[in-house]
Amino acid sequence: MRWGKGVPSEELIELIRSLAPSPFREEIEPDGSRTLVCGDPGEVIIRFDNTCITISLFEVQWKGPYTPVVTPREMGTVNWVPELRQDILLTLSHLIHSTCNQRRADFRSCTICGESLPPEWMFNHEMCQSCASSQLGIVY
Ligand SMILES: [Zn+2]
Repeated sequence: MRWGKGVPSEELIELIRSLAPSPFREEIEPDGSRTLVCGDPGEVIIRFDNTCITISLFEVQWKGPYTPVVTPREMGTVNWVPELRQDILLTLSHLIHSTCNQRRADFRSCTICGESLPPEWMFNHEMCQSCASSQLGIVY
């Protein structure tokens, strides 16, 4: 992985990971930027490119009835300045925390199985998709 001058090191990426919910799924984009999808279900997406770190809310939109598409909603971008390392980590910590809170605020409880689930996993306001398929015979 090639990093430009002043770009976060592996060690720093590890530190930033420790601020976010696990598990992590890491993706490397064609342009060489790295994306960390944090949490399962996903809560926050952290993108590292040559000069900055972008925090986005994990959101899913349906492109048709069977095709969920992750559409990250940008919450904030921080330019990476090595001299401001502590300030930047603090800012990232706040951003990640508020993004996760916003995501979890959208979770709904299934009245059948009691699980707290993200909106894209719900069949309707009361029932999750897996309960809908076992109770109503709906097949996905
Ligand atoms: Zn359920």
